[in-house]
Amino acid sequence: MKILVAVKRVIDYNVQIRVKEDGSGVHTDNVKMSTNPPDDNATEESVKLKESGKVKEIVAVTIGDDKAQETVRKALAVGADRGIHVKSDTYIEPLGIAKILRKVVEKEKPDMVFLGKQAIDDDCNQTGQMLAAMLNWPQATFSSKVTLKDKSMEIVREIDEGLETVEVNLPAVVTCDLRLNEPRYASLPNIMKAKKKPIDQMVAKDLGVDITNRVQQLKVEEPPKRKAGIKVANVAELVSKLKNEAKVI
Ligand code: AMP
Repeated sequence: MKILVAVKRVIDYNVQIRVKEDGSGVHTDNVKMSTNPPDDNATEESVKLKESGKVKEIVAVTIGDDKAQETVRKALAVGADRGIHVKSDTYIEPLGIAKILRKVVEKEKPDMVFLGKQAIDDDCNQTGQMLAAMLNWPQATFSSKVTLKDKSMEIVREIDEGLETVEVNLPAVVTCDLRLNEPRYASLPNIMKAKKKPIDQMVAKDLGVDITNRVQQLKVEEPPKRKAGIKVANVAELVSKLKNEAKVI
């Protein structure tokens, strides 16, 4: 079996995001970038399935500028076999990303596509769902446990009320939750070996899909500053303040 895993380069989750003065976006120059955290879980799960002997090949794909290749290299360093870098110097919305991934799926013919549940930069939570719809494949989103069977997968999903178990026939699209596993660190020898693994290059606008963005970003603003809290002496004071000042009870 073969897995295609989608990995996106985003601003590192530890970085304090700074909005540009003209409101046109956020600062990315000299800012630490990393793999989108749930995409590390998607890669880790693929590698575990390969180690279990059920999967033969893992192909890691990213769509982004030249530096996005680092994201693919990282996936190669933890166990992916091959990489694909679809080059685009401009931001592409989830719809365009899903269309590009569909093209890659048609070429690579994987049994499963693993993605993160959500990218922490745009917070869209759309790409996996759109890709599944376009391919007409079953989808299991927010996966926190994956059990691969012969022609299907049993997935435990995180939902508002708790956990839900579903079974999807292969081929299928799986989006991964942070609770799915503990991503491993790449060892130095594996980082060195990953440099020799092949990465195919393509250009997004040459793939023959319409990747025009549909959403126009008008302005990016800092969230309003929160006022400092106060300490209350006892429950009675708390209740009184909630009733008379905040007027929420
Ligand atoms: P989103 O729908 O933007 O929240 O992204 C969900 C998931 O789609 C991410 O966790 C990635 O696995 C995948 N994805 C989104 N954008 C890209 C990209 N530019 N390159 C590779 N994978 C992506």
